[in-house]
Amino acid sequence: MHEFGLAEGVLAAVRRRAGGRPVRRVRLRAGVRHGVDADSMAQAFRFVAAGTEAEGAGLDLVTLPVHLACRSCGYTGDTVDVLSACPQCHADDVELTGGDELVLESLEYR
Ligand SMILES: [Zn+2]
Repeated sequence: MHEFGLAEGVLAAVRRRAGGRPVRRVRLRAGVRHGVDADSMAQAFRFVAAGTEAEGAGLDLVTLPVHLACRSCGYTGDTVDVLSACPQCHADDVELTGGDELVLESLEYR
């Protein structure tokens, strides 16, 4: 459950931005390489946010893809499956870039 560590970082960013305003909803963009499970993340966030201005806030998670480049056939494209081989030639000699973003996209206030 590494979501708890991430949730604490997200909460810190939320509180900095909210500046004491009560938060109703948080929208978070996370690269697929963080391997964040949406349900676990929402649960972890609820837990760490208890007693703060973000208590009870919902968390929407947007998963960002990773860019895949195949060294075998030259295919390039985006994928949300980090374990995937090349979708074109099925070689596993692929290079993955990106997908490691963690960005607080927006907040909704009560
Ligand atoms: Zn390929």
